[in-house]
Amino acid sequence: MNELRELYQQVILDHNKNPRNFGVLSLPTLKAEGYNPLCGDHIEIGVDVEGGIIKDLKFNGAGCAISKASASIMTTLLIGKTVEEAKLLFDEFHGIVTADPESDADMMNLGKLAVFCGVREFPARVKCASLAWHTLMNALNELSEKVSTE
Ligand code: ZN
Repeated sequence: MNELRELYQQVILDHNKNPRNFGVLSLPTLKAEGYNPLCGDHIEIGVDVEGGIIKDLKFNGAGCAISKASASIMTTLLIGKTVEEAKLLFDEFHGIVTADPESDADMMNLGKLAVFCGVREFPARVKCASLAWHTLMNALNELSEKVSTE
């Protein structure tokens, strides 16, 4: 398990150093802003949604390594997915970071989300890791509101 942990740390460091999809979309369908006062992380997310599919997703802002890496990994997981799939992944992600650290959830079935298992060992960091996801969900929920009023 230590080797896995080291691997996840490498992934987080890499995404922090070279964040993927970092920037601003020129005309996003949706955008949202999130702030984690406990750590000072601030993030802005822009999403292009077309026909229920996340066509593009970018983030920018400033924060700690975990918040930045989490946002970066999230964008790589969600571009090309449907909004529904994104919501399911959010539920899964949320389950991972809030699970009891003693319970060894089926890491094998988690795929890339397994990187976030390590976060459970740092309860104070859960909010950092969740910030991008919560911000994105705020943006996507706005979409369903928009749709339902039409
Ligand atoms: Zn943070």
